[in-house]
Amino acid sequence: MPTSPAADSALNQTLDSIRGVGPRMLPKLEKLGLKTVEDALYHLPSRYEDRRQLKRINQLRSGQQEVFVGRVLAAGESTTTRRRRKVYEVIVGDDTGQISLKWFRYRTPWLKKLLPIGKRAVLIGEVKHFSATREIHHPDVELLPDNVDPLQVLQQDPLNFGRILPVYPLTDGLSQKQARKIWSQLVEANADYVESQIPDEILQRQRLIPLADALHQAHWPHKQSDLQKLEQGRDQSRSSLVFDEFFFLELGLALKRAGVKLEEGISFKLEHRYTLPLSKMLPFKLTDAQRRVLGEIKQDMCSPHPMHRLLQGDVGSGKTMVALMSALIAIENQTQVAIVAPTEILAEQHYKTIGHWLQKLDLKTVLLQGSMSVVDKREVLQQIADGDVDLIVGTHAILQEGVEFHRLGLGIIDEQHRFGVKQRSLLKHKGQNPDMLVMTATPIPRTLSMTLYGDLSVSVIDQLPPGRKPITTLKFPGAQRSKAYQLIKDEIEQGRQAYIVYPLVEESEKSDLKAATDAAESLENTIFQGVSVGLLHGRMKSSDKDSVMNDFRDGKLRLLISTTVIEVGVDVPNATVMMIEHADRFGLSQLHQLRGRVGRGADKSYCLLLPSDHYSEDAARRMQVMVETEDGFRIAEADLEIRGPGDFLGTRQAGLPDFRVANLLRDVRLLESARQEAFAYIDKTQNLTAAAAQPVLDELLRRWGGRLELAAIG
Ligand code: ADP
Ligand code: MG
Repeated sequence: MPTSPAADSALNQTLDSIRGVGPRMLPKLEKLGLKTVEDALYHLPSRYEDRRQLKRINQLRSGQQEVFVGRVLAAGESTTTRRRRKVYEVIVGDDTGQISLKWFRYRTPWLKKLLPIGKRAVLIGEVKHFSATREIHHPDVELLPDNVDPLQVLQQDPLNFGRILPVYPLTDGLSQKQARKIWSQLVEANADYVESQIPDEILQRQRLIPLADALHQAHWPHKQSDLQKLEQGRDQSRSSLVFDEFFFLELGLALKRAGVKLEEGISFKLEHRYTLPLSKMLPFKLTDAQRRVLGEIKQDMCSPHPMHRLLQGDVGSGKTMVALMSALIAIENQTQVAIVAPTEILAEQHYKTIGHWLQKLDLKTVLLQGSMSVVDKREVLQQIADGDVDLIVGTHAILQEGVEFHRLGLGIIDEQHRFGVKQRSLLKHKGQNPDMLVMTATPIPRTLSMTLYGDLSVSVIDQLPPGRKPITTLKFPGAQRSKAYQLIKDEIEQGRQAYIVYPLVEESEKSDLKAATDAAESLENTIFQGVSVGLLHGRMKSSDKDSVMNDFRDGKLRLLISTTVIEVGVDVPNATVMMIEHADRFGLSQLHQLRGRVGRGADKSYCLLLPSDHYSEDAARRMQVMVETEDGFRIAEADLEIRGPGDFLGTRQAGLPDFRVANLLRDVRLLESARQEAFAYIDKTQNLTAAAAQPVLDELLRRWGGRLELAAIG
C-alpha cells in the first residue's frame, strides 16, 4: 500500500493511464468495478492455464485445458444425427495421434480460411472425452507459418505462451488476450508501488512475502510454481494478499474493542428490587444457559464501561426472558430501557409479554410504532422524555429523530440481523454511552462471528427450555397436499393450532398476497369448514393485525394463514404445525425461523414443506437440510455453504468491507492467525500509539476511512 506521495498518485491513477487502455476500453473495465490502478492490481486471475510446454497429441488429458501443435488432416461440415445441428469438424494430427476439433457456431468461409488442409497450428482448448473419441470444441487457434519451429514462434509471444498464464474474469468486449496485455503492463508498471505495512516480524513469522511480490506472482506466476496450489488459491502469493486484508480488518476491530473499553459508561448496581420478585413470579425456572448468560451480562452492566454484547440463541431458547431480566437491572438503577424489534407484530408481542410482568412490578411500559396516531405518539414521546415510563418497546420508530429519552441506560435490539449497523448506532446515541445488548437467533459459524463481531462480546444460550419435543419436518410434493391438510386437521381437532405461510416476493407482492387471501377463503369453505381461520399480512392496518394475532394467541382462531410477517419472534406455544407454501422460495435461515414458531410448548410439532412444481437444485438442498436437522448451527453452516459468505452475511449491511482477495470459507486459517497477530499488535503498540506503529495506523485509516465507526455496533 502506498506511503510515498508518488506511490499514492500512481495507484490512484485512472486506468486510461495504462498503455493500451483507451476511451473504448475504459468503460468495459469500469463494468468490472475497476476505476483505479489499485483496483485493477487487485483484480486477480480467477484461474490459470498451464502453457509451459507444448503437449503431444497422445499426451492430452481429458478435462484439461491443453496447448499443442497439430496439422490439419481433414475438414468439413456435417449434421449431427441426434439434434440435427450443423457442425464443422477438423481433424488434426501429429506423429503420435489425431484429435477432432468441432465448431457448432461458425461461418464456414472464415473457418476454411482459418484452418486449410495441410497447415499447422497451435491449438488451445479443453479436451473432452466421448465414448471412443477425444474432441475439443471451439479451440483457440494460432496458425503457424510453414517450415518454422513452433517453439520459436511461441517464444516470440511470451504473453501467451511458454508459461503459466493468468485467466481473468472478463466482461463483454474484453478478450482474454487483451486482458493479459493490459494486466501485464499494469502489473509491470505499478505493482512495485504497493508497499506492505505489516511489520516485518509478523511477515516472517507467518511466512508471507511482501505485497508487491505477491501481486507480481499472483498475476504472472513463476514457471516453477505449483499449479495446483495456485488454482486453489493456496499459494504463498494469495496467502500474503489475503492475510494483509484480514490483518487490517482485525486491527480495526481490535482498536474498536479497545476504544469501547476506554469509554465511560454506567456502572449499574445489582439491587434485586425487581429481579428477585420477578424470578419468584415466573412459572418456570431459568435454564442453566439463561442463567450463565445473565451472569455475563450482569458483569458487563456493573463495569464502568458500556456493554457491547451479542446474545445468540437458537429460536425458542428464551432470549426474551434474559432481555427482561437485564432490563430490570437497568430500571433498578433509575434508567430507561428501549427494546427495538424488526416488525410491528413482534414489538406488539414484546409489549404484551414484557409489559405484563412489568405491570406486576408496578413499572410502566409503552409501545411506540410508526403507525400510531399523531396525538397518541405525541403523548407517548412526552412520557418518554419526562421519564414517566421505564421501558419502551417499539419498531424502528424508536430510532427516529424527536424520540428523546429521559435517561436511556440499556438499549436492546431483538433479531438484530434484521437491522443495519446504522440503526444500532442510532439507538446507542439516544443515550450517553448506554449499555447495548443485541440479540439474534441466526447462529453464525464461529469464524464468521469472529470477523463480524470481532469487537463484541458474545454470549450463547446453547440450551432449550426443558420439555421441548423435536419437530418433525416433512416435505410434501404437490400430489400429497391433502395428506398435509389432514395432518393439520388432526392437530386442530386435538385442540392445537396451526400456521400456513405464503411467501411474499417483492416484485409480485400483489399476486402473492392474493394467493394468501384466496387460500384463506377457499380453505375456510372447503377442507377447514367449521375451523376458525384467520388471515394476516403486512398490508393490514396495525390494529387489525393486533386483533388477529390476539385472537390466535387466545385460541379463538385455530388456523392462521399468513405471509411472512410472522417469520420472526412470534411465540404461541399451543401452535404445533407450521406449513410453508412454496417452501423452495425461502432461504434457509427464513425456513428455520418459520419452523421456530412451533415446538415452543410441550406438544409434538410438525413443519410441513410444500414446494412449488419446479424448483432449483439449491432449493432442493435447502429443504433437505431442513428435513435432516433442527440444529440452528448446522443449518447456518449449510446456508453459508450454499450461499457463500457475501450473501450470508450481507456484508454491506454488516458494515464490513468487501474483501478483494480473501474468501471467508477458504481462508479461515489465515483469518485466525491474522486476528491473533492484530490483537497482539494492538496490545504491544498501546493501541497503535507507539511511534513505530505510525505507518500501520496511517494505512488502517486509509483503508477503513469512515467505516471504522460503523463496523461495530456504533
Ligand atoms: P426466543 O429466544 O426465540 O426469542 P422466546 O424468548 O420467545 O425465545 O422464548 C420461547 C418460549 O419459551 C416462550 O414461550 C417463553 O415463555 C418460554 N421460556 C423461556 N424461558 C423458559 C424457561 N427457562 N423454561 C421454560 N420456558 C421458557
Ligand atoms: Mg425472540
